[in-house]
Amino acid sequence: MTATRPGTVYLVGAGPGDPDLVTLRGLELLESAEVVLHDELVPRALLARVPSSASIEYVGKRGSEPAEKQMKQAAIDARLIELAKAGKNVVRLKGGDPFLFGRGSEEALALSLAGIPFEVVPGVTSPLAAAAYAGISLTHRDLASSVVFLSGTTRDKTDFDFDELAGHTGTVVILMGLARLRSLAASLVSRARRAPTTPVAVIQSATGPDQRVVVGTLADIAERVLEAGLGTPALVVVGEVVSLRKSLQWFDKLPLFGKRVLVPRTAQQSSRPSALLRRRGAAPIELPLIRVVPSSNRDEIQKALASLRAYDIVLFTSENTVSYFSAELSAASLDARAFGGARVAAVGEGTARALATLGLRADIVPPKFRAEALAEVVLQDLERTTGGTAGARVLLPRARVAREILPELLRQRGVQVDVLTLYETLPAADEDRLEIVRLLETAGLDAILLLSSSMVDSLVEVLGGRAAELLSRTTLASIGPITTAAAEAHGLRVATTASESTIESLIEALEHVSGRGDPAATRGVV
Ligand code: SAH
Repeated sequence: MTATRPGTVYLVGAGPGDPDLVTLRGLELLESAEVVLHDELVPRALLARVPSSASIEYVGKRGSEPAEKQMKQAAIDARLIELAKAGKNVVRLKGGDPFLFGRGSEEALALSLAGIPFEVVPGVTSPLAAAAYAGISLTHRDLASSVVFLSGTTRDKTDFDFDELAGHTGTVVILMGLARLRSLAASLVSRARRAPTTPVAVIQSATGPDQRVVVGTLADIAERVLEAGLGTPALVVVGEVVSLRKSLQWFDKLPLFGKRVLVPRTAQQSSRPSALLRRRGAAPIELPLIRVVPSSNRDEIQKALASLRAYDIVLFTSENTVSYFSAELSAASLDARAFGGARVAAVGEGTARALATLGLRADIVPPKFRAEALAEVVLQDLERTTGGTAGARVLLPRARVAREILPELLRQRGVQVDVLTLYETLPAADEDRLEIVRLLETAGLDAILLLSSSMVDSLVEVLGGRAAELLSRTTLASIGPITTAAAEAHGLRVATTASESTIESLIEALEHVSGRGDPAATRGVV
């Protein structure tokens, strides 16, 4: 018997919190991972990119947790070695950068000693990211020409030896120092000989929608941080460059900064709304309103896939339909070639983009995201390409329950429409329903995105008799007139409707209604 070849351990930096700040290499490894071991401070949205076939193990430690609850470093090292020896490739995901105060070096040394191959993928480290998102340039030709990163807590639990910094005039960034802030600030004055008036910023949860920044001086920062009630994770920036924030602050001034926005999910739809919200400083909260299960008409699906090329047009009315259709194609060992000469129509840009990932360019996309507009362009296309609509064949894959208007409009003109049910929808699980109610009851939501009329129906169904009352407590932002009409039919008040029926336009509309107050002011940002 030959021994199993050991797998490789990838020490990957996850970045500081904003999931968009991981490297391409890091994301590639996560998306093809077999096993992921991760720390506390890694973005949950990154773990969501790990394939469902992979196993994810939490091996984190929080400074605030009692030692016995934390997984000891030796146990983590042993687990990495054990997995690699079993032939697994392991992604060891660590907050920020693996080689900056992350014990990544200790893990790499243990691997090296055990003869396990490893690679290190750097990450955006929190001092760099926090400074960027707080509007503090760590160096500046007139203010600081060096930067020191230091750990506020050393191995034997004593303070850093500030005599090392005596005479240093550049920027100092302290990690893991919040709990000892008072004594650290005092030592910077007494031992590193910095002026008590030196500006200091403490940055909590940098790069996230809950980022908080408190500014003061070495003399008063501890008091200010206590008053503001800052918590971990936080780091401290000391030096004249802190004064740049007055002019360079940008992230916590974004119109949606800190807003908690519910992105109800009706199936495995795209993560784009959440990604766009995050880019504007908001905190997207994704919760499902329905559960989607594949439909049981297996024979009918098989038959339709085998005769795809016999259709003039295959019509896709949502991104979900594309993803279900694609899964069925793969299950039948087919690919885009099964379409033959059939033309492909998409209801909007999102659906067209989803098709593009299958290698299919949509031949038909209506100028407006509406069933009526889609029917119109499909009919025009049939006139042009087949010389008439009567007898033309259209396949419409979709959910069991859907608006009937589209097949009706086509059939009125003699088109033979085959509706293919790909999936069925059931109401959300109880725990998700209760979570939405809880968020609304505790004023934990600043806004809700309404992305379709069926989503509005599901939301109202999920909330039951209290729907109108609960939903009156938040800002409803709708993607288009049909969705708004559906909401109003339920007695809801929609605060804003997107002008162009796209996610971008919807988020812009939300910015407009939210931008009136100053979010920074309400969050205790100094
Ligand atoms: N390897 C990590 C640092 C690990 S030490 C990196 O490169 O960033 C953990 C410390 O990092 C925390 O105590 C805190 O001081 C800092 N930190 C990590 N993420 C942070 C964040 N999002 N905001 C502020 N500080 C953060």
